[in-house]
Amino acid sequence: MSTISFLDQVHRMFEKAAAYTDHPAGLLSQINICNSVYHMEFPIVRDDGSIKVIKAWRAEHSQHKLPVKGGIRFAMAVTEDEVMALASLMTYKCAIVNVPFGGAKGGVMVDRRKLSDTELERVTRRYTYELLRKNFIGPGVDVPAPDYGTGPREMAWIMDTYMTLSSDKLDALACVTGKPVGHGGVRGRNEATGRGTFYGIREACNDIDRMKALGLETGLAGKTIVVQGLGNVGFHAAKYLEEEGDAKIVGIAEYEGAIYNPDGLNVESVVAHRKETGSILNYEGAQNIENSAEALELPCDILVPAALEAQITKKNVDRIQAKIVAEAANGPVTADADTKLLEKGVLIIPDVYLNAGGVTVSYFEWLRNLSHVRFGRMRQRFEQQANKRIISALSEAAGLKISDERIAELAVGADELDLVNSGLEETMITAYNEVTEIAKDKNTDLRTAAFICAIDKVAIAYLEMGIFP
Ligand code: NAD
Repeated sequence: MSTISFLDQVHRMFEKAAAYTDHPAGLLSQINICNSVYHMEFPIVRDDGSIKVIKAWRAEHSQHKLPVKGGIRFAMAVTEDEVMALASLMTYKCAIVNVPFGGAKGGVMVDRRKLSDTELERVTRRYTYELLRKNFIGPGVDVPAPDYGTGPREMAWIMDTYMTLSSDKLDALACVTGKPVGHGGVRGRNEATGRGTFYGIREACNDIDRMKALGLETGLAGKTIVVQGLGNVGFHAAKYLEEEGDAKIVGIAEYEGAIYNPDGLNVESVVAHRKETGSILNYEGAQNIENSAEALELPCDILVPAALEAQITKKNVDRIQAKIVAEAANGPVTADADTKLLEKGVLIIPDVYLNAGGVTVSYFEWLRNLSHVRFGRMRQRFEQQANKRIISALSEAAGLKISDERIAELAVGADELDLVNSGLEETMITAYNEVTEIAKDKNTDLRTAAFICAIDKVAIAYLEMGIFP
């Protein structure tokens, strides 16, 4: 573990980047500090009738744009410091991908494996109630989302509790994102962080200059990848890297151990094997690695930590063999390790950019909830008919015979998932280009460039409010 806290590390990154800007010191401190933190402790009744007191937090880092936004984490290791650090990263992340929100984060100190589903439901509902009591949740105030240990089910409980208690019935659905599609969620949100991670890695691998500097071929196809964490982000990132990027997943680490096969693993089938046996170990054709952390040190082109923070530290950094570290998780590389990796010439694709796909599609979900209409509903059929007319006219002019079935296939209009995915892809590409431009211009690493990008945008937002001279 690193000796400095996660929050101090984020502050260090901020200060490193701030030095490249010319914003006044006071404005920089306003951007850096965490505006408000609500620490609560509440009781829940366990299934056996006993009472358990739960510690929880919600941090709102910056209200320069409203609502503030950030996931809710269920983990025993949650601390106030961690929640504040993650809330800060959310502010910068939103700014980098041009999502008009401030940053926030929630943390609930529970081990989800040790609580039953009904106990988890009680925890989630009570947490929501506490947030509502202090005005820490609402479509225009603070909009949570899933994070480590939570998913669509918890978001549905939050939405249901909020709707029951709030007087704002019309827009109440927009109080939380990452909901199941049948309950106001948007198609593509569940897989968005992993899909965005895939787009970000693909963009970096298509960057000719960067690949040349690393001694790697341009393009993602055939690159060897090790993924740590087969949860929401890790699974989806690995799946798209394999299926759409044609990369080779050679190692997968979970808390129970890791597996390695230099010829490649099939992600879907590893998940099926884990479901069946309760572990990723003993997967056919793969070598078992009992100490999961050792998987980070496996030979590969790209290492994708997608579990928790502080995984690559000064203790193991010298043994990392990957040429690219793609931070799908928040804060997986400590500040000391970051310096060492950069000295070694490793390309770090930073968390504040790389895992921003989740909040991007959360923004789409929030818009959908407020507009009360599914994306594509008003134009899908119109597009289809227009496409049909164009194809028919062109094929007639060219004297081609195209069957009605083929025309129908070609003419299909964009549905909600198509629109969400293309909006996400566009966002990740634009942000990559913006950050790399800054990195070239200032001659910095990508993390520093991403922070400079964020600081400048938040500074402009504050200045435009006219409250600072
Ligand atoms: P998750 O709970 O769905 O999955 C995390 C997985 O990591 C679990 O399967 C867990 O067993 C595994 N894990 C835990 N410790 C491990 C270890 N030491 N070694 C190997 N595996 C380990 O969580 P998630 O939503 O996928 O989040 C993962 C990371 O991505 C977190 O840092 C989170 O903050 C970040 N993130 C998540 C989202 C999102 O939309 N869910 C968005 C942005 C960032």
